[in-house]
Amino acid sequence: MSLSSHSADQSPLSSLAAYGWDSLWAAEFAPFAERGLVPGRVLRVDRGQCDLITPEGVVRADTEYVVPRDPMKVICTGDWAAVDPDGGDPRYVQAYLPRRTAFVRSTSSKRSEGQILAANVDHAIIAVSLAAELDLGRVERFLALAWESGAQPLVVLTKADLVPDPVGLSYLVSDVETTAPGVQVLPVSALDGDGTEVLRAVVAGGTSVLLGQSGAGKSTLANALLGADVMDVQAVRDLDGKGRHTTTTRNLFVLPGGGVLIDTPGLRGVGLYDAEGGVEQVFAEITALAEGCRFHDCAHTVEPGCAVVAALADGTLHQRRLDSYRKLLRENQRLAARTDARLRDEMRQVWKQRGRMGREAMQMKRGRMS
Ligand code: GDP
Ligand code: ZN
Repeated sequence: MSLSSHSADQSPLSSLAAYGWDSLWAAEFAPFAERGLVPGRVLRVDRGQCDLITPEGVVRADTEYVVPRDPMKVICTGDWAAVDPDGGDPRYVQAYLPRRTAFVRSTSSKRSEGQILAANVDHAIIAVSLAAELDLGRVERFLALAWESGAQPLVVLTKADLVPDPVGLSYLVSDVETTAPGVQVLPVSALDGDGTEVLRAVVAGGTSVLLGQSGAGKSTLANALLGADVMDVQAVRDLDGKGRHTTTTRNLFVLPGGGVLIDTPGLRGVGLYDAEGGVEQVFAEITALAEGCRFHDCAHTVEPGCAVVAALADGTLHQRRLDSYRKLLRENQRLAARTDARLRDEMRQVWKQRGRMGREAMQMKRGRMS
């Protein structure tokens, strides 16, 4: 008995709904359906192949047809793809549907090409441990990454049981809330279950990823959401396209309370890449203030009529926020400059100019002093 006939009697496409398939994906997929291709969501990718969940079950397919040299166009976990129908061996992924969102990281190499980590993520859960002192700069970094991906960030303050004082906890929450305008901040304890129901409700509506430092409690959260040990879940035996049993590691899971969780080693160590848009969103209040500056290209240092400096002076903006904003912008430009030769040249010009201005300033100073 073939797998396709096995599942054909119970509306095959609706079986994908649990994985996030909706009418918009169906509309995007229509031209591929006309070509007789099968839709599937990528559960994991390895060298040249991937596992997809399709109406036929889990199918292993070659990605060769959609892998050009551009690393951003490489298929990744969370992609919706069009796969050859049953019969061909190997089966190929013929295309993937336009991504709604995408998580990208900078490779550690000097060449610094973006590496695509996960696609079509709706919620970026940023795990921040309350066991250590809050590092707001780090929270901002993860927020920038999340906004840049297109996903909606959510900050989960983990290990809330370690802050038994409710007043102290509310201070920590509001500190993070000020740092994260437009973002829900949720204290959670996986130990006693506090906050996990709210988290479950949020992630039920779409696809989520867990971001955060090692030790922040991501695995514990994942297990709480999955209601099972991830390792056990990963060991689930799947059927490949040819009806063989294979033990595969998945990076994408359907949650028992609804929703999908993507968890990959790559996402766990994710950094900041070309996230300027994201940075602007994290520091939305600074961007808004800057619109009130007298000069369009105000650097918010010594310019007259600077709204940012005024906000620093009257205490509505904290110096830490501004420093953090500048730091992330700089870091971001450095990364971008590695890939973009044009920007690199521009920056070289700026550095040269700065050097010249610096030298002139020094000479003026010396002149004044002598
Ligand atoms: P990951 O590296 O982000 O995946 O972090 P883990 O999930 O492995 O958690 C790191 C450590 O924090 C482990 O020792 C967990 O037992 C502990 N931990 C996680 N969640 C909680 C919690 O809600 N309360 C307490 N007290 N400890 C927790
Ligand atoms: Zn200004």
